Amino acid sequence: MPELPEVEVVRAGLERHVVGATITRVEVLHPRPVRRDLRGPTGFAAALAGRRIESARRRGKYLWLPLDNGDALLGHLGMSGQLLVQPPDSPDERHLRVRLALSGASEGRELRFVDQRMFGGLSVSTGGGELPPEIAHIARDPLDPEFDDDAFVAKVRRRSSGVKRQLLDQNLVSGVGNIYADEALWRARLHGERPGNRLTRSQVAELLGHAREVMLAALGEGGTSFDTLYVNVNGESGYFDRSLHAYGRENEPCDRCGAPIRRVAFMNRSSFFCPVCQPVPRRRRVVPVPPPRRLTRAVSGGTLEDGPARLQSPDRSRCYIGRFLYGQGADRLPEQRPA
Ligand SMILES: [Zn+2]
Repeated sequence: MPELPEVEVVRAGLERHVVGATITRVEVLHPRPVRRDLRGPTGFAAALAGRRIESARRRGKYLWLPLDNGDALLGHLGMSGQLLVQPPDSPDERHLRVRLALSGASEGRELRFVDQRMFGGLSVSTGGGELPPEIAHIARDPLDPEFDDDAFVAKVRRRSSGVKRQLLDQNLVSGVGNIYADEALWRARLHGERPGNRLTRSQVAELLGHAREVMLAALGEGGTSFDTLYVNVNGESGYFDRSLHAYGRENEPCDRCGAPIRRVAFMNRSSFFCPVCQPVPRRRRVVPVPPPRRLTRAVSGGTLEDGPARLQSPDRSRCYIGRFLYGQGADRLPEQRPA
């Protein structure tokens, strides 16, 4: 699945190779990739024909090409999508779904959308040149110059959900996929289940910095393939073979401490972590609630004197027992009810 750095490589490639070109002809070879366009395949093609591509932009893993009439061609690569710039005489790819013939700056070339599994797709976003309304809800990503680090840190620390889940929440930060989340967590020595609201400001800021570093490193390595006019965005870039410390390394020794990396199921995918460097957070101990009858016996058995002392204890478990005692005998000890 293409992650954000690969999508950024595609964006940069589109900027270099199709901006300034005019779309002369559109051929939809399979209707599924344009299913989100309510005009249907014919309307989709008609909305693009004759339009000039003004730039190439990205929000998270969505790409859009603003057009000269204020609309935009919006695309997502899904699980297996590719956008290729090819000379027209090159043979059709096996999973070629949409073909856009270009003229002008890219005279004679074709922009091809190739997608085996077709989770991705293309659509024309009406008035979406500046920012397609379909993706306006998606948060900026850590590589976006306008990403707000402080706001991100504050939001993570307000939520009790696990920090990995938050890293993958596209409404909070976009583009940090499963691989980058696991790598950033390994570098930050944090387990993904650590609740956001129990991390310090600097822990979250450091984690964000690691996510950005990992993504930039991948971006640097993925950026070399575009000069051939062919972008491979299947997650096969060399980065994945050489630089990963946690992801995909189940049972291999941790690069830091040598302990075997562990894999656990996570949201229909997997999480990889070092059980030593990234200890599983201890669950907050559940205070056993004594059954009422036993406590009543204990009270009648002479421990009532403990009651007021326990009520004043700052310890949460004792407060609970204290409250229970009050529930039983509130009329007798009203002056000692804790605030
Ligand atoms: Zn380790």
